[in-house]
Formats: sequence, C-alpha cells, structure tokens
Amino acid sequence: MKRLLVLGSTGSIGSQTLELVREPGSGLQVAGLAAHSSWEALGRQVEEFRPPVVALTDPQAAASLRAHLPAGTRLLEGPDALVQLVEEADFEVAVHGVVGRAGLEASFAIAASGATLALANKESLVIAGELLVPAIEAGGASLVPVDSEHSAIAQCLRGEDPATVRRILLTASGGPFRTASAEDIANATVEQALAHPNWSMGPRITIGSATLMNKTLEVLEVHHLFGLGGDRIQVAVHPQSIVHSMVEFTDGSVIAQMGPPDMRGPIHYAIHHPHRAPAPLEGFDFASFRQLDFEEPDLTRFPALGLGFRCIERGGSAGCVLNAADEVAVEAFLAGRIPLPAIADVVEGALEACAGPAPALADLQAADEAARHHAHEALEALSPTT
Ligand code: MG
Repeated sequence: MKRLLVLGSTGSIGSQTLELVREPGSGLQVAGLAAHSSWEALGRQVEEFRPPVVALTDPQAAASLRAHLPAGTRLLEGPDALVQLVEEADFEVAVHGVVGRAGLEASFAIAASGATLALANKESLVIAGELLVPAIEAGGASLVPVDSEHSAIAQCLRGEDPATVRRILLTASGGPFRTASAEDIANATVEQALAHPNWSMGPRITIGSATLMNKTLEVLEVHHLFGLGGDRIQVAVHPQSIVHSMVEFTDGSVIAQMGPPDMRGPIHYAIHHPHRAPAPLEGFDFASFRQLDFEEPDLTRFPALGLGFRCIERGGSAGCVLNAADEVAVEAFLAGRIPLPAIADVVEGALEACAGPAPALADLQAADEAARHHAHEALEALSPTT
C-alpha cells in the first residue's frame, strides 16, 4: 500500500485524488488529509478513509469538526497546521492541491521530508521556484507536477537529454472567451468567466483560464520545472484540450502527450511515478479525438499571457508579485467589483511597482505583502469600497 497525504482534500484536486484511492485495488491508503474550512466535507472523508491525522487551517472550522471526529483520528488546527501535518504524518507521496500562496510553506516542508511532492499548487513554483527546486534536491525529495500540461511535458521528456529540447509547446484551451471580442471580454459576467468549456477546476484557476493568467502561471511553472528560458516556451491554443502539451526537439521531431481532459490522469501519473500503474481512465477515442486544432495566442485580447515571460526575464520576486496581485484582483472580480480585463492591469501595475531581487524566502514574503497592498490600493482607485 502506498501512503498518501492529501493537502486541499476537499477541493477539486483533492476529491479527484480520493476518487482514485477509492478504486478497488488502487493500492493507495490515506495517511493524512488537510482542508482550510470545509469541515463537513472533511468529516465525511475522515469517516470514509479513517486517516490517523487531519488538519484544518481555519480554527473555527476545526472546533466544529472536533465534536464529530472518530477516535483514532487526530486533528491539527490553525495557520501552521499544514506544515505540522507534513511533519507528523507517515506518507510516501503528498498530493498538494492547496490553492494559492497558502500552499507555499507546505511545499518546503514536503521538500524537507524527502517524500514525493505531487504538486498541483503551481503557485509554490511561481512564487519561489528558484528556492523550491534546490530545496527538493537538498531534501532528497522528488517533484512531479500535477498540472495536465506539465505532466505531459515531463512524460514527453522521459529518457530525453534536456539539451536536445528546441522548445516546449504549452497548450492552452483558450478558455470561455477564446473567440469573444475584446468588448465582450470587457463586459463578461462572473458566471460567464466561471463556465470553462473543458476542465472542471476551482474558481481561481477557472478565472485564470478566462484571462489566460493561468497560462502565465504555467509558463513560469515550465521555466522552473524544466530549467528553460522564455525563448524556448511557446503557448499554443488548442481548444479541444486533448493534446496536453508537446516538446519539439532539435532534430525537428515533436512529441505530444494526449488524453481526454481529466485531472485524474496527471494525479494518477504523479502518485505512481516513476512507474506506470493501471488506471480505469479513458485513452484514445475516435469520436472526441477527431479534430485537433491549434492557434497562436492573441496577446491583444489576453495581455495577461505576456506577463509570465516578463517575470522570467526579471526573476527575483516577479513571479511572487504577479501571483499575489492576481489573487487579490481575482477576488475583486468574483465580488463583482471590477471588469475582467482589470485583473491583468492590476497585476501589471504591481509588477512595475513591487518586483525586485529576492535571495531568500523572507524577501518573497515581503514582496507578497507589498504586491497585495499595491493591488488593494489600485482596486480602491478603480472601485472604492467606501
Ligand atoms: Mg494546467
């Protein structure tokens, strides 16, 4: 039995991970679960999987769950509970599906533990890739991406010499506004932006797919995971989300990884890495694979896409600033305060004002705070709350 720790267990990645655990003969066992505040959902997962230890970062939610907890499951609570859980749980693979900056410290704790980090919290790399990748090596851990594109790239690169990569073709569905006019994008409602054509994901990533900010995070993720500069990363819009990404080699050969859009594929691959274990997932399908289209991205309608490349050039805290400002701006969009295109404007403003060198984690914490403050002030100017 492989022992799994699932961080963000009540979210999209977490619940799809538990679907795989539930499969008869999965060979997987839950060593620990963590959520932020969804105590009722976590309580149901505890009933079903009986992990020895769980965590809730929201103390009020923890107080609610405590009364319903079976004997034999210990509960950790508070802002440090994720790191405590990583330190106390006995696991081989951590599926890290926490969303946003909140997942950063847990990534470093998993790196230090020497276990496999199946990373869906792409923000950890975007914010601190320059520090996290060496920390993984120092801890003897391994890092396997749980992002469909990056899982695809890692699979295409298996057994290949990284020096023979000409470029990565990072695919993007184009989101719900791929064919919309600039005017329609400017007037997009929250509901329209949340209606992703292919993938079922949490709200922050779904809004990021509408602005292509998610693809910008993924460009940075490619940069840190595979050590490539922006000149070797090309985004290809592929509306069917069947080709999850491609690698073009120096001899002109292009290798693609394909499958129906289902996050359980990359989760399963990461959990069992470096082995291929059988899974009850669909493969090739004549009906849905009939047509595969590719388009160049439009930076005029989707200016967020250019910001990731700018962050690679700048290095330091740029990725951290971009992520922090985006988190703040997406919340404001979801609250109906600002139009969709304002998200990229707020993020760009924060990058100009706050990005700088960041040799240590403390510098990134300071940059994160500065960027959030800057974004809040910009939002206040756009849409005063008082
Ligand atoms: Mg992705």
